[in-house]
Amino acid sequence: MSFAKASVRDAEVAGRRVLVRADFNVPLDGGKVTDDTRIRAALPTLELLRERGAALILCSHLGRPKGKAVPELSLRPVAERLSGLLGTEVRLAPSVIGGDVELLARALGPGEVLLLENTRFEAGETENDPKLAEALAELADLYVNDAFGAAHRAHASTEGVAHHLQGYAGLLLERELSELGQVVNSPKRPLVVVLGGAKVSDKIGVIDRFLEIADQILIGGAMCFSFFRAQGIATGNSLVEEEGIKLAEEALKRAEESHCELRLPVDLTLGREFAADTERQESDGVEVPDGWMGLDVGPRTAESYAEAIAAAGTVLWNGPMGAFELAPFAAGTRRVAEAVAAAPGTTVIGGGDSVAALVQFGLGDQVDWLSTGGGASLELLEGKKLPGVEALLDKDAVDKEASHG
Ligand code: ADP
Ligand code: MG
Repeated sequence: MSFAKASVRDAEVAGRRVLVRADFNVPLDGGKVTDDTRIRAALPTLELLRERGAALILCSHLGRPKGKAVPELSLRPVAERLSGLLGTEVRLAPSVIGGDVELLARALGPGEVLLLENTRFEAGETENDPKLAEALAELADLYVNDAFGAAHRAHASTEGVAHHLQGYAGLLLERELSELGQVVNSPKRPLVVVLGGAKVSDKIGVIDRFLEIADQILIGGAMCFSFFRAQGIATGNSLVEEEGIKLAEEALKRAEESHCELRLPVDLTLGREFAADTERQESDGVEVPDGWMGLDVGPRTAESYAEAIAAAGTVLWNGPMGAFELAPFAAGTRRVAEAVAAAPGTTVIGGGDSVAALVQFGLGDQVDWLSTGGGASLELLEGKKLPGVEALLDKDAVDKEASHG
């Protein structure tokens, strides 16, 4: 399957005002951006547009202000950081829409950059209010969506606005779709999918899809306890998602009929409680005694998962193997991260915490693709359509236009 949406590279932008939806939902501390990965990820699209003589009107959400202007969630720190990264002034608008914003937008010259305030200061953003979408559209001549991390949401700035302006895919959005699409559509084999994290219910859609596509699924994290409960194995005080037990049971059944091998941990690292200074022990099997909880996969599991990863043509990893934030329980996640970093196959990582773990271990630059979208990457991998992508122009539409003109 080829990527069928129109690319920003094919847009006529010289002398035009372009509304760019980016994902600037970055962590802040005391009015400063503490991790600018997402801002940097938007730079290729912004630089391309400036080089081609577009005037840029940028927008993004930040946190959850719930439809009100919340000063702590202003995009001012983003404007400052972006200004430094682009090497040009990035002016912050006083609000998302309104007369003052229109004047600022109209006054922009080629290469100049205006950042609108946090789109979620407007209640209409998450409600996908057509009035807000129209007001945003009025600011510009065309629309570029580069906010992969928000593309699974049908909001005014991610979806609604594309009903009023011709919409193109930004370079980051395109790259995300092609990297994640490749894993699903034409993976080098064997395809090994490593899934961990807290809940089965978050990842069951991905498990189902990959039981049909992958060669192996390796399960770790707290979600393995739902599988163990489904098998009648004691889990002690481990974190178990009750709703996940049924889902796990069904997945185990489907796995029996699938050619894909669904693997569970064979040993665990246990603690008394969720704390770094808790009493710790390795368990030989996977039964968790009363008074203990499983906080990481054990060393034999980590080693055999690492071997599968080393032998893979493609590795997709989503979700840590244990409570990696607690140093005594980070070993399983670290072993998997090291194996992924060293793997000769194609390696694609999705999920906020798995990406954070890789970066924490200093291995972030040793994989092929780190997805910027947690929820969006899961939905895409599940095979769902992303509203922020669907609303963009089809590639054919642009080709036709070009051949007529
Ligand atoms: P991602 O963001 O990569 O998709 P998740 O959000 O699904 O990952 O899960 C990450 C969380 O899961 C981490 O906070 C981690 O502490 C927790 N976790 C993983 N394994 C365990 C475990 N055995 N017990 C408790 N929490 C766990
Ligand atoms: Mg997470």
